[in-house]
Amino acid sequence: MPRFVEERRELIDLLRSRGIKNERVLGAMMKVERHRFVMPTFVDSSYLDQALPISDGQTISQPYTVAFMSQALEVSEGAKVLEIGTGSGYQAAVLAEMGCRVFTIERHMALHLQSRKLLQSLGYRVATRSGDGTVGWSEYAPYDGIIVTAAAPSVPDPLIKQLADGGRLVIPVGGQAEQSIRVVTRAGDEYVQKDVEGFKFVPLIGKMGWEK
Ligand code: SAM
Repeated sequence: MPRFVEERRELIDLLRSRGIKNERVLGAMMKVERHRFVMPTFVDSSYLDQALPISDGQTISQPYTVAFMSQALEVSEGAKVLEIGTGSGYQAAVLAEMGCRVFTIERHMALHLQSRKLLQSLGYRVATRSGDGTVGWSEYAPYDGIIVTAAAPSVPDPLIKQLADGGRLVIPVGGQAEQSIRVVTRAGDEYVQKDVEGFKFVPLIGKMGWEK
């Protein structure tokens, strides 16, 4: 008998009440078992709408944030999506469950190895890599969507360059205390941007991010 089904249903109802409307996002989050991606101590809190600690001083993002960012990507089935900041692997699993072809990069080797193993064991076909995601993953560019799950001081130029025409980059930007989520949409040579305030992420560290 699968665990936490009722808790997951309640979380989906909460996300709906907070304005998440995309049924593919909600359907994917109903399927992905968040309790598999958290530390054993926090399993009972898996379906609260909270960020939780993972190893290396990082966090698994709050479910509302995962839903908001996944919805903001506006990707269709089969879309190629790059994620910067694999962390636990939860966001990557949600995108894979939405039918995206997912490429994800994590700077902490231990987290990369751990999430890669977990994603494989759960049957998610996701391309994973350890390294500095602020420079993107040019071999597989362009991407229909790029999602950054750590807060950047500004939008890294290499990520903009790896966006397909019509694609969207979703990235938290701002000071380290609080950030806005910025959605940059590419239309030919034009880039339209929109900010939504009031989010909190761990810092994006790297060549085009914050210093260590
Ligand atoms: N998407 C993750 C999940 O579902 O668990 C959330 C992870 S956490 C909020 C952000 C992650 O970004 C951390 O694991 C951190 O190590 C990683 N990170 C920070 N800077 C990075 C960089 N330059 N390249 C790749 N990963 C980075």
